[in-house]
Amino acid sequence: MTPAAPPQSLFQAIMRGARGQCPRCAGQSLFARWLRPVEQCATCGQDWRGHSADDFPPYIAIIITGHVMAPIIIALGLYTSMDWPVMMALCLAMTVTMVLGLLQPAKGGVIAMQWWLGMHGFARAPGRLLGPIGTSKGNDT
Ligand SMILES: [Zn+2]
Repeated sequence: MTPAAPPQSLFQAIMRGARGQCPRCAGQSLFARWLRPVEQCATCGQDWRGHSADDFPPYIAIIITGHVMAPIIIALGLYTSMDWPVMMALCLAMTVTMVLGLLQPAKGGVIAMQWWLGMHGFARAPGRLLGPIGTSKGNDT
């Protein structure tokens, strides 16, 4: 697979990571399994072991889910005559589904952000300072 050009901005890097793509080349999947990133991109050779996403992705997933679900729960309570056990089961299922669905995109975005900004294990070669893939300015040699 031919790698895409490196991202031109933090936003572009985060969007690639959130889509589960390698933030550097938009090629190989960033994740080996659901929340486990690959050690190295098979397309561009970028080493992804330097990330330290920790609790930030769940925090993002919870914040987004809370802001989406709160108005839905309030609206269901105000404008429907749904029994509370049914409403609770429905809201719980929607909340859990949304949080679990947002975890991988949030983690991909956080890893991309850390890489772009040179945080944690990416301090030696921040993404924003790397040249095109395959050049001596890149860290894939
Ligand atoms: Zn790559």
